[in-house]
Amino acid sequence: MAEKLLSDRERFLKLIVVSANGCWEWQLSPDKDGYGLISVGSDTDGSARRMRAQRFAYEEFVGPIPEGMETDHLCRNRICVNPAHLEAVSAKENRRRIPKSANCPHGHALSGDNLYVDPRGNRQCRECRRQAILALRSRIGKEAVNNYQREWERKKRRKKSA
Ligand SMILES: [Zn+2]
Ligand SMILES: [Zn+2]
Repeated sequence: MAEKLLSDRERFLKLIVVSANGCWEWQLSPDKDGYGLISVGSDTDGSARRMRAQRFAYEEFVGPIPEGMETDHLCRNRICVNPAHLEAVSAKENRRRIPKSANCPHGHALSGDNLYVDPRGNRQCRECRRQAILALRSRIGKEAVNNYQREWERKKRRKKSA
């Protein structure tokens, strides 16, 4: 039987670089969601599989992840696999934790008058919305946008009165 040169844990430790803020940054290319992947187990006993590197880290250094739980990054760095930066939480809790960031992706402050919370609870940037409308206006013309907005307002009113 061919012996493995390195254990999964040894290989794992060779694939990280510790960043200044203590994150263990995974060096292999991430999956489509931005998370690191590791191949573990062996073909010999049929245990070979690919898994999220952060799950491996958690199970290897902390303990088993309970059924249905996800590993949440306390550092918000998806490629980080530092078990100290990971916490096993329910999927529901993980979604609830999506950071209420201070700025929109374009750097406008998400606070005060600029913050708009839509009916589904998503935090929206009014400035970005304003700019999106301006951009739309220059593309399809002011009149078309005004018509569109009027139509939208009408629909909203109709819904309310219904
Ligand atoms: Zn981290
Ligand atoms: Zn914005």
